[in-house]
Amino acid sequence: MRPARKKGAERKNGEHAMSTTGLVNRSGIAIAADAIDAFAAGLAGRVIRPADADYDSARRIWNATIDRHPGLVVRPLGTADVIAAVTFARQHDLLVAVRGGGHNVAGRGLCDGGLVVDLSLMRGVLVDAASRTVRVQGGATLGDVDRETHLHGLAVPTGVVSRTGIAGLTLGGGVGWLVRKHGFTCDNVLAFELVDASGEHRTVSATEHPDLFWALRGGGGNFGIVTSFTFEAHPVKTVLGGLIVHARDQAGAVLRYYRDFMKTAPLELTAYAALLTTPDGHPAVAVIPCWCGDMAEGERAVAPLRQFGSPLMDAVQPMPFPVMQSMLDDAFQDGTRNYWKSTFVKALDDDAIDTLVGHANRMTSPLSAVVVEFYAGAASAVGPAETAFAQRQAEYDIGFMAQWTDPAEDATHTAWARAAWDAMQPFSSGGFLLNFLSEESPDVIRAAFGSNYDRLAELKRKYDPTNFFSLNQNIKTAA
Ligand code: FAD
Repeated sequence: MRPARKKGAERKNGEHAMSTTGLVNRSGIAIAADAIDAFAAGLAGRVIRPADADYDSARRIWNATIDRHPGLVVRPLGTADVIAAVTFARQHDLLVAVRGGGHNVAGRGLCDGGLVVDLSLMRGVLVDAASRTVRVQGGATLGDVDRETHLHGLAVPTGVVSRTGIAGLTLGGGVGWLVRKHGFTCDNVLAFELVDASGEHRTVSATEHPDLFWALRGGGGNFGIVTSFTFEAHPVKTVLGGLIVHARDQAGAVLRYYRDFMKTAPLELTAYAALLTTPDGHPAVAVIPCWCGDMAEGERAVAPLRQFGSPLMDAVQPMPFPVMQSMLDDAFQDGTRNYWKSTFVKALDDDAIDTLVGHANRMTSPLSAVVVEFYAGAASAVGPAETAFAQRQAEYDIGFMAQWTDPAEDATHTAWARAAWDAMQPFSSGGFLLNFLSEESPDVIRAAFGSNYDRLAELKRKYDPTNFFSLNQNIKTAA
């Protein structure tokens, strides 16, 4: 009848309850097992404690450099469970982390000692084809969304690796293969269902709590736990996409061509460039186009990119959108070690290109990459103050993604990404993409929110005055 209570009793094995729960409050005082048992018994979902067999898998996230030990992992089944978790955490003054897809590079979905609200049982996606809207629960991945929308010939603009969580990605802005035509992911949200810091449930839209609606579109996880999103979807079924790969010694020429070509490219075309190492160990530069409009027009529009130079491989072809969306998954395997740095640049001039190519050529791991992403289009047609996501005017984002597997090499690869980022600072616009931030200084976080920081701080004070939601790109409450 009360399975959670029974499990807890077995787990104790006669040890002193106060010292065995692993759950401590913000002052370091242990929470009694009885209190946890009572909380667990009231949930439709479940809790995972340090002594449970699946505790280690529950505290594992995509980035293996993050090794934290939460006191309790709560897996809600629905909004009522999320409210119960927030209420329990408030009563006991617990540190709280919120986990969507577990893909935050800095591991912001995990904490030590406190409580993790892990939404991985809440992955439902409901498509209303007639209104072209999609309701998505807060623990869904991008792949979950694409799988359902594709059935109806629709797509929501999200990111480029299918296991990423829709929640963290959307709240931080969200860029992907449809960004130039349909904007950032946050630009496509029609409504949020939110549990706020007081444990209250709110529907947030342009007409209900419009200030929160503004803040949630780019303000990160600062304002509450989103239990579901309603997105606008677009008719996108088949896209023209794939990798065009050149030898690395062509990188300077390929990037210059890519830059000039994208300046006049139609908005149906989003294309990234990446300096990477091929699976058989050759340093290379790839251009990755994704055309989301009419196929015949797309063949014509993408042809010059394919004809430039002497590519070693051209895999561009029509494909179902979910295939494009998961094409890069293997390059970002779960359990690798990662450290990412990125910056928007004022302009991708020749000096900037030469600097980033120089650092790519000194890459310390074959799994690492330097990525150049061009966003200008629908996203930059929205004003920086219209949503919390302010970084709309700089056209190119440059990412240094260090990835490796051996913990003994952490310092080497981290140092490479840092040095490359430092070298790009003369070209930086001073803006950063929230979603790609590793652990950063408060100044960098502030710069990522840009001109919207002060308004966000006011709203943080209004909706989360005690900074209950602190494990995110944290906005300090306005005095
Ligand atoms: P989690 O680690 O689960 O959560 C991260 C933070 O988001 C939490 O601290 C919390 O503050 C908040 N959060 C999560 N769920 C909720 C919720 N339901 N309610 C409220 N707050 C919540 N970004 C892009 O924009 N485009 C990309 O193409 C892209 N590709 C990526 C590829 C990989 C391999 C990885 C690792 C990351 C990528 N990102 C991309 C960055 C990604 O969007 C962010 O790291 C984002 O935070 C991941 O969201 P998540 O839900 O998986 O993260």
